[in-house]
Amino acid sequence: MWICKECGCAKFKITKIEETEREVVFDKDGIEDESKEIYSNTRETLECANCGNSGSIFHFIEDIAEWVEEK
Ligand SMILES: [Zn+2]
Repeated sequence: MWICKECGCAKFKITKIEETEREVVFDKDGIEDESKEIYSNTRETLECANCGNSGSIFHFIEDIAEWVEEK
């Protein structure tokens, strides 16, 4: 199993972040009349669930954890 290099914890946390940008036209009542998606991006961050160690910006499990065979 993978364990955190900092604290030895085997649980990790992945946060999914969704970013969208829309171009919007409002009608007289302030209700969205037309909308067009102009940008959309989903990314995930990885960190240790115990100590928050998040390693490099690439967030590969190898960056923050090491593999140890289960006994
Ligand atoms: Zn940790």
